[in-house]
Amino acid sequence: MADIKYKRVLMKLSGEALAGDQVRGINPIFVKQVAEEIKEVHDLGVEIAIVVGGGNMWRGEAGAELGMERSQADYIGMLGTVMNALALQDSLENVGVPTRVQTSIEMRQIAEPYIRRKAVRHLEKNRIVIFAAGTGSPYFSTDTTAALRAAEINADAILMAKNGVDGIYSADPRTNPDAEKFDTLTHLEILSKGLQVMDSTASSLSMDTDMPLIVFNFNETGNIKRVVEGENIGTTVKG
Ligand code: UDP
Repeated sequence: MADIKYKRVLMKLSGEALAGDQVRGINPIFVKQVAEEIKEVHDLGVEIAIVVGGGNMWRGEAGAELGMERSQADYIGMLGTVMNALALQDSLENVGVPTRVQTSIEMRQIAEPYIRRKAVRHLEKNRIVIFAAGTGSPYFSTDTTAALRAAEINADAILMAKNGVDGIYSADPRTNPDAEKFDTLTHLEILSKGLQVMDSTASSLSMDTDMPLIVFNFNETGNIKRVVEGENIGTTVKG
């Protein structure tokens, strides 16, 4: 553990990371690649908890825009994250990493209910804990879940893996060639500049809990390892 900067991390994986080139659904080939990347870091002795998103399945907001009741639409979104969590658990266990899935909405036949002390115990026993079903409440996001669970388990940092973007920019670098990359920021700067990183609930909670956030490109092999070893890739948000 000599060269490890972050010994207990909360990784936020968006649903898109599990869809691969499909946009929607789960692509087991990509999930396997994700699992192998995570295993490399787990092998270093880093304690890893993961919050999975569900955007590859369903977004509550989109359902509401088409006339659904928002809470009902959000519950569908939360169930989508559970499917992703089970796929990730399958792949992680296939590469030999012990895992537990904990859900914020009880479904005991397939996962444990979320119990903070039990989650911490799993981490201490070197199991990866995957948090599914978001916060269990509509109107929230899995980014907010990441900020909440990171604080609850006393994580050293939130690692936000982005698809194809290597940090936080002043504008979307995929569409705006003048977009500038930030090496460091504060949570308050994200809020005041209106930067598209996490939603504002997640940013303000991270500010209140003083939780560091590292945003980095997940599409480059070995990047999670670089981040936990303290290499300055991506954007670091502190304070
Ligand atoms: N969601 C929710 N409460 C939560 C977390 C998630 O209602 O605490 C729902 C919400 O409808 C959201 C969907 O689950 O659109 C998928 O989560 P998210 O959009 O955060 O996934 P990601 O963009 O990270 O893939």
